[in-house]
Amino acid sequence: MSWEVVIGLETHAQLSTVSKIFSGAPTAYGAEPNTQSCPVDLALPGVLPVLNKTAVEKAIMFGLAIDAQVAPVSVFARKNYFYPDLPKGYQISQFELPVVIGGTLSFNVGEGDKAYRKTVQLTRAHLEEDAGKSVHELFDNESGIDLNRAGTPLLEIVTEPVMYSAAEAVAYAKTLHALVVWLGVCDGNMQEGSFRCDANVSVRRVGQTELGTRREVKNLNSFKFLEDAINYEINEQIRIIEDGGAVQQATVLFDPNSGQTRVMRTKEDAHDYRYFPDPDLAPLVISDEWKAQVQATMPELPAQLQSRFVEQYGLSTYDAEQVSVSKAHAEYFETAVGAMSQSDAKMVANWMMSDIAATLNKEGLELTNCPVSATRLAQLLAKIQDNTLSNKLAKEVFGAVWAGEHADKNDAQIDAIIETRGLKQVSDSGAIEAIVNEVMNANAAVVEEYRAGKEKSFGFLVGQVMRASKGKANPAQVNDILLAKLKG
Ligand code: ADP
Ligand code: MG
Repeated sequence: MSWEVVIGLETHAQLSTVSKIFSGAPTAYGAEPNTQSCPVDLALPGVLPVLNKTAVEKAIMFGLAIDAQVAPVSVFARKNYFYPDLPKGYQISQFELPVVIGGTLSFNVGEGDKAYRKTVQLTRAHLEEDAGKSVHELFDNESGIDLNRAGTPLLEIVTEPVMYSAAEAVAYAKTLHALVVWLGVCDGNMQEGSFRCDANVSVRRVGQTELGTRREVKNLNSFKFLEDAINYEINEQIRIIEDGGAVQQATVLFDPNSGQTRVMRTKEDAHDYRYFPDPDLAPLVISDEWKAQVQATMPELPAQLQSRFVEQYGLSTYDAEQVSVSKAHAEYFETAVGAMSQSDAKMVANWMMSDIAATLNKEGLELTNCPVSATRLAQLLAKIQDNTLSNKLAKEVFGAVWAGEHADKNDAQIDAIIETRGLKQVSDSGAIEAIVNEVMNANAAVVEEYRAGKEKSFGFLVGQVMRASKGKANPAQVNDILLAKLKG
């Protein structure tokens, strides 16, 4: 009997605003506990919430970016529950009328031949405030409450249950993450909790039409945890059902150390929260003019830019996606190609995806801190195009630029490195011919073997010529000249 997996994600993106959603207290991360909470965040008697306009504008921008309906009127509601980090005894959220309705997000799943395009329907996105934090590490046998985070603006983004594997869910989360960072609505810092996902996972037998009972894994703050938690849930739920049991609807926590989830609470329903409109806040009215104003400040979106890259530079959709995983990537790519010619775009993309990505990864750096600027990369690749450098030598020069060799020479840096390291490729056919002659004389037996039909000997001879030239002979010319001499 085979199984089908169904996943829906709820993502909390912290909106990057200077102050909180209903108070003027700062939102900066990492301050001393309880130094960034004002009477509104502490829920002292008599205080009133005042909505942060910037938080609303970020929500509008997100709605426009995913082609959703931005609600002309939405309503803040109280979600009532008791928890020590929630001083009011309720969280201000949106329930029946959220600010963003519907919308879609499209992306590639997988690589190469197996890659396919997926579109995920979003249910809604709503504004709400974050809660505080319980602190267990500061005191012996006592817990503290830190209310710095209380009132931080969040956009909760909810999908329909339309993802069918951990790979799809992770690809969705990465695309959403890239989009909110791109738009500048969220800083995307997952370690600090600025972007965290709840994964709703259920399984059903193939052919069954109604959804299986789901379990919800809370607060996954890395793509790896998201993937591992979903895969654990899938296996666990299938095991329960195959053992003759039934999955209990529940909220669970993922423990990265054990790679397992454990039940936090059996699932409450919406009515348990006794939602009702918050009488302290007027309905949120968003006019067409306001939407248009926000629209006017929006950058070119990743999807638009990717289709432009495909059309303008002839990149594959995969390459286009890779060179635009962030705004910084797209700018780097276009700066480098701009300094070369359109037909070099694929070469720039290849270097970004291989040497640059690998070295950044090794050094734990982001592209914004890449020691090889886009202009310098373009100058380096131009040296391959004009046959000054082979690919192999170019990699050596790349390493030298990365290490800052001759950095003070600015635009003459690459020339200086080639000069002092003596890396210039030999493309003078006379010089190459001389080396070829030498190698053929020194390896007369191998030359005879080749002429007698042992084709493999050719590679050996090419290798010897390259070695004799210390890797500097132009490989294409070596091939041509050697072949001509062997045939001749
Ligand atoms: P709640 O807000 O109480 O968690 P919702 O019904 O709004 O509940 O659903 C939240 C998320 O769970 C949505 O992303 C939705 O797509 C997903 N979901 C709902 N039912 C299932 C199911 N049976 N399997 C997988 N995901 C589900
Ligand atoms: Mg939920």
